[in-house]
Amino acid sequence: MLPRRDQRLGAWQTPCREVTPTESSTPPIRNKAFVVRLYPNTTQTELINRTLGCARFVYNHFLARRIETYRQDGKSITYAATDKELTLLKRAEGTLWLAAVDKFALQQSLRDLEKAYQNFFRTVKTTGRKVGFPKFRKKRTGEAYRTQFTNDNIEIGDHCLKLPKLGWIKTRGQPDIHGKILNVTVRRVVEGHYEATVLCQVEIPYLPAAAKFAAGVDVGIKAFAIVTGGNGEFDHHANPKFYRSALRKFRKAQKTLSKRKRGSVRYRKAKTKLARIHRSTANRRQDFIHKLTISLVREYEVICTEHLKPVNMVKNRQLALSISDTGWGEFIRQLEYKSLWYGRLVSKISPYFPSSQLCHDCGFKNPEVKNLAVRMWRCPNCRETHDRDENAALNIRREGLVAAGMADTLNAHGDGRRPTSVGSGLRSENHATSVV
Ligand SMILES: [Zn+2]
Repeated sequence: MLPRRDQRLGAWQTPCREVTPTESSTPPIRNKAFVVRLYPNTTQTELINRTLGCARFVYNHFLARRIETYRQDGKSITYAATDKELTLLKRAEGTLWLAAVDKFALQQSLRDLEKAYQNFFRTVKTTGRKVGFPKFRKKRTGEAYRTQFTNDNIEIGDHCLKLPKLGWIKTRGQPDIHGKILNVTVRRVVEGHYEATVLCQVEIPYLPAAAKFAAGVDVGIKAFAIVTGGNGEFDHHANPKFYRSALRKFRKAQKTLSKRKRGSVRYRKAKTKLARIHRSTANRRQDFIHKLTISLVREYEVICTEHLKPVNMVKNRQLALSISDTGWGEFIRQLEYKSLWYGRLVSKISPYFPSSQLCHDCGFKNPEVKNLAVRMWRCPNCRETHDRDENAALNIRREGLVAAGMADTLNAHGDGRRPTSVGSGLRSENHATSVV
C-alpha cells in the first residue's frame, strides 16, 4: 500500500493550494505590493534623506542601549520600553531633530530591531548556530524606511502619492494601485533615484481552470527552463544571462570607480553609475521571470519542479556566476506565490531524486549522465535516445505528480480537471510585484 500523501510529502514539498477554488467563492484578500518611482523636489529629497538618517540613528541608538543594559544587569529591554524611551528622546535636548521627521519611520526602526533580536534568538534556539546578532546600520546609498497608514495620512493621486510629512510627491510608471493601503516603504535606490513600495490588501480571484493539466519544469544553465506537458512537446526557455551580457559595462564602471578618489564628487558619480547598471540588470531579470511564471500559472493546473537550493549550488565556484545570474530562487518564489493566488498547485520533488539520470521510458539509472557535459544520451537498457533536459523535465513531471498524490495515469492527460486540495499549503504574505 502506498504511504499516505502527507507522509510522502517531505520538507521540500510545498503544495501551494489552500482550498480547491470554486468559481462561486469570494476572492481571497492578498497583500500585494506596487512599486512606483518617486520624483521628489529639493525640499522633499532633503527630508527623505533626513528621515533615512533618523531611522538609522534610532535603530543604532537602541541597539546600543539594549547591548549596554544587557551587559549591566543581564536583562534586555522590551519593545514597549524602547517605544517609551523614543518619545522621551524626541523631547530631549540634542535630539529634538527627531521630532521633525515621520514618526512611523522611527517606530518601524524599533520594530525592525525587535525582529532582528527575535530572529537571532530563534536561530540560536533551533539550530544552535551563533549567527545573526543584530548589527549596527551603516550609512549607505541603498536605504529604506517604512511608514504606516493611519487616518488617511497616505493617499494615491493621479501620478502622485501623498506621504506623511512629505506631502504630495510626483510619481511615474504609475501602476494601477488599488485596495486598502497598509504601509509604504520609501527607498533610496541610488543617489537621486527614489522608489516607493505601496503594500495594499487586494482581492485576487482565482483563475478559471487551466487548459492543461500538469507541467514538468527542469531549470538549468544552458536553458533557463525546459517545460513539458507530458505530451511529447517541450518549451525551451533560453537563458537570457543578463549579468553576463552586462559584464563589460560592469567591468568598465568598476574600473572607473577604482580610479576615483573616495568621497570625491567624481567617485560618487561613478558609484551611482555602477549602481544603475546593477539596477537595470536586476529589473530585466525580474521582468523575464515574471513573464515566464505567469504564463506557466495561466497554462497549467499543476506545476512540478525541483527543490533547488541556489545557496548551496553557488558554492560550486565554476557554476557560481551562471547560477547567481539565472535567478532560480526568485523563479520558484514567484511560482509559489502566483500558484497560491491563482489557485494552482506547485509540487516540488525531493532534492535527492536523480531526475537527469533516470531513463523516462524504462526507469534505468545511468550515472554517466551526472556529467553536466552530457547533453544527449542513449539508454543502455532500452536503447532510447534522450535529450538531457527534456528527459529530466519528464521525470520531474511524473515524480511531482506522484509526490502530490496524483499519478498521471489516474487523470486523463490535459482534460483540465481540477486536482483535489492538498494539505494546508503554503501561506506566505507580502509578495511584491514590481511594476516599475
Ligand atoms: Zn531506458
